[in-house]
Amino acid sequence: MTPLPGPDEIAGKDARRAGGVDTPMMRQYQSIKQAHPDAILLFRMGDFYEMFHDDAVVASKVLGLALTTRDKGKTNPVAMAGVPWHAAEGYIARLLRAGYKVTVCDQVEDSRKAKGLVKRAVTEVVTPGTVLSDHLLRPERDMYLAALHPEGERVGLAALSLSSGDFWVAEPQRDRVADELDLLAPPEVLLPESLRGREGDLLSALDPAPAITWVADGRWDERRALETLAAQFKTHGLDGFGVTHLSAALRCAGVLLDYLVGLGRTHLEHVTAIRERRRVAHLVLDEITRRNLEIVELSAGAAPETTLAASIDRARTPMGSRLLRRWLVEPLVDVPAIRARHAAVRELLERRPVRARLREALGRVRDLERAGARLVCEKASPRDLVEIRASLRAAQEVAEALTTLHAPFLAGARDGWDGCEDLAAAIGEAIADAPAAAARDGGVIRDGWNDELDELRGVTRHGKEWVLAFQERERARTGIASLKVGFNRVFGYYIEVTRPHKDRVPADYSRKQTLSGAERFVTEELRAFEEKVLDAEDRVAELEEALFVAFRRDLARNGARLAAVAAAVAGVDVVAAFAEIAAERGYVEPAVEEGSALAITEGRHPVLEQLLPRGAFIANDLHLEPEEARIHLITGPNMAGKSTFLRQNALLVILAQAGAFVPATSARIGVVDRIFTRIGARDDLARGQSTFLVEMIETARILHQATPRSLVLLDEVGRGTSTFDGLSIAWAVVEHLHERPEGAPRTLFATHYHELTDLALTLSRVKNYHVEVKEWEGCVVFLRRVVEGATDRSYGIHVASLAGLPRAVIERAREVLENLEAGELGAEGLPVIARGARAPRRAEPIQLPLVVAPTERESALERELRALDIDRLPPVEALAWLAAWKRRLARDKRGGGR
Ligand code: ADP
Ligand code: MG
Repeated sequence: MTPLPGPDEIAGKDARRAGGVDTPMMRQYQSIKQAHPDAILLFRMGDFYEMFHDDAVVASKVLGLALTTRDKGKTNPVAMAGVPWHAAEGYIARLLRAGYKVTVCDQVEDSRKAKGLVKRAVTEVVTPGTVLSDHLLRPERDMYLAALHPEGERVGLAALSLSSGDFWVAEPQRDRVADELDLLAPPEVLLPESLRGREGDLLSALDPAPAITWVADGRWDERRALETLAAQFKTHGLDGFGVTHLSAALRCAGVLLDYLVGLGRTHLEHVTAIRERRRVAHLVLDEITRRNLEIVELSAGAAPETTLAASIDRARTPMGSRLLRRWLVEPLVDVPAIRARHAAVRELLERRPVRARLREALGRVRDLERAGARLVCEKASPRDLVEIRASLRAAQEVAEALTTLHAPFLAGARDGWDGCEDLAAAIGEAIADAPAAAARDGGVIRDGWNDELDELRGVTRHGKEWVLAFQERERARTGIASLKVGFNRVFGYYIEVTRPHKDRVPADYSRKQTLSGAERFVTEELRAFEEKVLDAEDRVAELEEALFVAFRRDLARNGARLAAVAAAVAGVDVVAAFAEIAAERGYVEPAVEEGSALAITEGRHPVLEQLLPRGAFIANDLHLEPEEARIHLITGPNMAGKSTFLRQNALLVILAQAGAFVPATSARIGVVDRIFTRIGARDDLARGQSTFLVEMIETARILHQATPRSLVLLDEVGRGTSTFDGLSIAWAVVEHLHERPEGAPRTLFATHYHELTDLALTLSRVKNYHVEVKEWEGCVVFLRRVVEGATDRSYGIHVASLAGLPRAVIERAREVLENLEAGELGAEGLPVIARGARAPRRAEPIQLPLVVAPTERESALERELRALDIDRLPPVEALAWLAAWKRRLARDKRGGGR
């Protein structure tokens, strides 16, 4: 992403160039631009927002606008580009998405009334992290503005969601920052000026990169921050929030608030508290795991329909959709809290009619959270208020539906319910049912709410009637039946009398205009009326706007109450959505407990099951019991379904601990504290060893961080390097997990190295499983069934033969395989694989290694042992040698009878 141009880049050049086009308007432009140097200035000129100089150049690129020049032909033409004002919102959205800030400068007086240059002022500063307009926000995503300040090993971090008012601080270790930010995906980040050039260290995980706003180092001051925050929360100090030990993070929080105030966002009534974000209270999913499991749509993530969130989201409100995603990326670990959500889902699942009624009412609640946030920021439009009112009414019905439910989660929501009926009623009294989009456009304030407004409106609405009545009166007074009252743009209102009746015109008529067949007059009364009508229209608009703004300000004091309704609605919406999806897809309530079992019967992958034709997905069991095998090795050829099985079990744990039901016939889940998933890198020549290195770094992290309550998924770890290396590493990793003194984490290890199945012989808590493959009418059939036992060793070749490779090739492959496995070297010290290719083929090549006499083999082994230079043997290779010998011995024993 293009970084924001620095102040010197834009303002400096502008200042110089502006000398050439020194008009009063360009001077006005310059002074406004200087106050907002690091944003693109949209300068209202008539029906367009114009941009000049470098702003125009940038905008023409980002928005694909034609770049023109102002004052063509003069010595210093000014680059210019413009967008129609009514379409500005879309263009602003695109500039924000490209990481720019935008300043909107409007004409703040009526151009018809202006003497000389029209007055202009900045009406809005929009930045990627502070937008509130619905057009610019994705409804299912929370949007946070973040500030970061590294201090030693820790990094101060504060994040604020302008729409929900959620405000938190944390001080993660440097190496955890990427995880925190990745989850947050802030579109805009505030950083201290002195970090310029080194921001990559902190932000590298973010894709797309956020817009960066540099804040002078002096402003990250702790005392100032404490004062700012206490003033915001109207408290003495921050002791009550339990955050005072996080001084680095509090500086960030202070800077965030400062920044918002600087942008003119002084109305932050809904930001009423700050909290410490504690990761320990949640099932931790690191960044790699969240990506691997495709839980929510990440900024640069895969197709949204393949994510867990999109697949199960049955929320009816935008707040619900957002909360559902928060629950999925931060599942609970507190068993009673998890069960409380399950109990609510169960009750709603069983009480279908109540659920239907509840969801119908929820469907009529609009984005109360964001409309409420626009309200407190004084950005709410008249239609926002009408929407808030409708939402509050629907929310009231939600609360009524809750009265017959008993699950504590639902009953608690109802007991603490503040439906804000007073606010809904106030809106109903003040605001018309179908107001214009902008207060100035009229028809916003309801009749009867303000006497002056009613009177003025009466004048404009009843003008016609008055004219007719006046005409009647004048006809009667003068006795001229053809007398007419009319209006024309130039002369205004007039009384027209045809020439024959000229003499009957009363003395108080004064002549205005003479036509060929008639004379036009005006009276004092008519003149007064005219003034009143023309004035009234303008005044109605002005008064309505003033009344609306004042009303909105009063209402905004209740921002926190509205946010609370929105939050309550969201919670109810999510459990109802969980119940709905459970009903729709036959999910069951999982038993979540303190132990460390993981027992799932007939589990299904929640996303894949939906993408496949009905009934095509094969359910599978998993039985990881604490006292038995903690590590399951799952073998099987490519495409057998190993990865799917691994992910499916992790997704079930996430669903269960998020409070949802799960796709299985039964599930018993000992609460999981962290889930790790590592997928072995593919042989990627273009990226060389680096992918393998990354794979190993990730694996190292698991070995360090996994606890006995963790769930570890290792999918083809070790694949990214040559066979022996990969095999050895995979082996060592499993052993290490197995031997941990505090207990092995529950581990599912999928691999196509069938050699690893030997691990089960020596390690008591490792158990072998494999995914079945069968031949059927000459085709390979993947049964997708995970069953106990080690896989058939020659799986790959078996599959190849099923696929119709020529018999000779298959036989030769078996021979090479055997020899490879035996690790045999020929007389020349070369691997025996080469032998068949050079020497004439023997009668029974496949059997060859097996018919060698045991004694001879013994000596071959001895020979190999002697030849080994232990001092220079890397440990992994030693391991591989050992494995090969052991296998050979085992086979000799079996083959001994032949
Ligand atoms: P592996 O990891 O063993 O190579 P995958 O897990 O990637 O195999 O699965 C390969 C394909 O098989 C998947 O894309 C999916 O379409 C299908 N598949 C996997 N598991 C199942 C299942 N349980 N039921 C039906 N189809 C499945
Ligand atoms: Mg796989």
